[in-house]
Amino acid sequence: MNSKSFLVPDTIYDYILKTTLRETLVQRALRERTAAMPQARMQTGPDQLQFMQLLVRAIGARRCIEVGVYTGASALAVALAIPADGTIVACDVNEEYTAIAKEFWQRAGVANKIDLRLAPGEETLNALLAQQGDYDFAYIDADKTNYDAYYELVLRLLRRGGLIAIDNVLWGGDVANSAETDPDTVALRKLNEKIGLDERVDTSLLTIGDGLSIVRKR
Ligand code: CA
Repeated sequence: MNSKSFLVPDTIYDYILKTTLRETLVQRALRERTAAMPQARMQTGPDQLQFMQLLVRAIGARRCIEVGVYTGASALAVALAIPADGTIVACDVNEEYTAIAKEFWQRAGVANKIDLRLAPGEETLNALLAQQGDYDFAYIDADKTNYDAYYELVLRLLRRGGLIAIDNVLWGGDVANSAETDPDTVALRKLNEKIGLDERVDTSLLTIGDGLSIVRKR
C-alpha cells in the first residue's frame, strides 16, 4: 500500500481497511491501476477518500471544488457521495493523468457531475470567483508551493460552514523538522502556521494519510 499513513503501523492500517473500507469495484480498479504508475504515491489513500465522503455527506455538500486531480480517485469518491444534481469543478494541468481519470469517471457513471478544467488552478479559481460562489466543499491536493494561493481563493469561494480538506500537510514529517528547507516543506509549514492562527476558520489537522487539515469557514 503506497498511500498508507507514515504514522500508522502496517498491521493497524491493514486492519482498518479490512474492517471498514467501503470501496466500489470501479474505485478499486482505479486504485490498482494507479498503484502501478511511477508516481503512485501521489494517490490519496482509500481510507482518507472514505473519510472525505463522510464529510461531504455530513454537510450535505452539492457544489464542490478539487484542486489537483491526478488520476481522479478523489473526484470519483466525492462524485459518488454528492447527490445526482451535485457538481465538482476539478482543476488540473496534466492531460495524461486526467485522461485516466475521465475513463474511470465514465465507468462509474459520474462523469456528468465532474467539470474538468485543464488550466492552472489559480486561473480556474479566479474564473469561478467571477461567477457564483457558495461552494460547500473543496479538496486541495496539488503543487505545494501554490497551496496558500489555492487556500485563499477557495476560502472566498466557500459558503459559511463549508469545508476545505488540505492534503499532505505533514509532508512525511518534514514540516516538523526545521532542518528541512526545500520549497515544498517551507510552503506547507507556513500554511499550517497561518491556518493555526486564522480567525476566519475552525480547523483540525488529522494524522490520516500524509496529514490532512480540515478547515471550516466561519
Ligand atoms: Ca496528496
